[in-house]
Formats: sequence, structure tokens, C-alpha cells
Amino acid sequence: MSSTKTIPRPENRWRHDPGQPLLAIDEPPPYAVVNPDGASPYLLLCEHASNRIPRALGDLGLPEAERRRHIAWDIGVSALSQHLSRALDAPLFMTNYSRLVIDCNRPLAAPSAIPQTSETTDIPGNLDLTEAEKQQRIDTLFTPFADAVARRLDRLQADGKRPLVVGIHSFTPVYFGKQRPWHAGILHGEATGFGRTLVRELQNEASLTIGDNEPYNIHPDEDYTVPVHADARGLPGALIEVRHDLIDTLSGVGEWGDRLTRCLVAALKEFG
Ligand SMILES: [Zn+2]
Repeated sequence: MSSTKTIPRPENRWRHDPGQPLLAIDEPPPYAVVNPDGASPYLLLCEHASNRIPRALGDLGLPEAERRRHIAWDIGVSALSQHLSRALDAPLFMTNYSRLVIDCNRPLAAPSAIPQTSETTDIPGNLDLTEAEKQQRIDTLFTPFADAVARRLDRLQADGKRPLVVGIHSFTPVYFGKQRPWHAGILHGEATGFGRTLVRELQNEASLTIGDNEPYNIHPDEDYTVPVHADARGLPGALIEVRHDLIDTLSGVGEWGDRLTRCLVAALKEFG
């Protein structure tokens, strides 16, 4: 079954023989479901919750300081999305591995699905991967998460329900050396009404600068959650992006968790 021939550069400890399992038995599964029976119509996703790298891939050739940076995960969103799951009584699907291994919010054809560079950092463990190495990351980490979310949505829609799909993200205050002006942003695709309602609700909250399709916008070539899980199904869907220095403490998570809960509850009056 396994073949040492498939290790292209055995001298690099972050290379892994794809004939061997990517995850060991004592490592976390690819994703976790929090509050699976939550009654809210919201289905929360957290695709960038963790900076964990499977042990088989070592450190991907990155020093610890890089692995703790926003390039590896969305800082603060694991705690924030769990706060929202609790406050809204909403199911939450969250990944357990770093987007540097494979990004669960990217179409598989996107070069950034397994990034060779993130911002200005080269990812040595992602260079010159064989098709078998890429496929193993897809099969082990990407597909189980995508399929679990799709199965849940299939079941809810078969029961005549209309779930609202919301991904919880954070962004770095400074990107490529440029300071960003927003406190938070709402990214939406086809569900512009739902997206703009969330923007409006957030703007009503306090004197905040809220991005409408900023600091990013949704594109089917670069995004997975909104185009596939929401737009293709005709469901309301959006990503919430919070500047990560606002949610890197428990008090920040509490403040933004309560604020976003109020906005999401208010949007249900129109879209629930
Ligand atoms: Zn993100």
C-alpha cells in the first residue's frame, strides 16, 4: 500500500508519504460540530478556526511566529463563532486544521487552496506537491468538511427549512503594509439584501466603520462557502469579517459576540 518512492524530497521533514494516513489516530478529526441540534435557522461555519498542522507535515517549513500569524488562521474566530453558536442556539461547523494545509473556503482549482505564498510568506511545505499529496489533503480535510455542511443543508432543505449560511472570519488590520479602515465587513454574493441588512444593522450599533464587500469581495473562483453553500442553493448567505485585533481577547470576543448576535437576530425579522 505505501511506497517510499512517493516521497519526493525525504530530506524535508514536512514532506509526507501520501500512501500513509495524513492524520494519526490521536489527532483531532478534520472538523468539529458545535451545538449540532441548535434550533436557530442560522448555520454557522468557521473555515479558518485553527492553525493546527497535521503532525505528518511538521511545521510546513515555517517558524512558529509565522504559524501564529493571520496567514495560518483567523485570529479570534474560534471563540467568537462558539459565542455566536451559544447565543443564537445555532449549529456551528468548524475546521480543526490550518488553511495553510488546505483552505476550506477556496474552490479546489484556486491556487490559494493550498497556498505556496501567503501575503509575503513563502510556504516551503506547499512547494512542488505531487498530485497524490494534494489529493490526500483534499480527501482528508477539505471534502469531509464540505460534505458535512452540504449534508446538513440537504437535510434542512428536504424538511422545508430555509437555513441562512454565515461564515465567521477575521482579517488583519495591516495587509501588505497598508492599514485597513474597517472595524468589520460583510461579504455577500447573490444575497445582496441579506448582506446589506447585516451592514446596516452593524452600522446602527455604534460609530463603527463597516465594509460592504470590504475588505474582500466574494468571487466564485476564490470563495467556496457563499457561492456553493448559499448562492447555488438560493439561500441567504454571507461572511462576517471582524478586524482581528478587536477579538483577540475574551472581552473583545464578548463585545463582538453580543453585537453580532443582535445584528443576526434583527436580520431574522426580514430573512428568517
Ligand atoms: Zn477567513
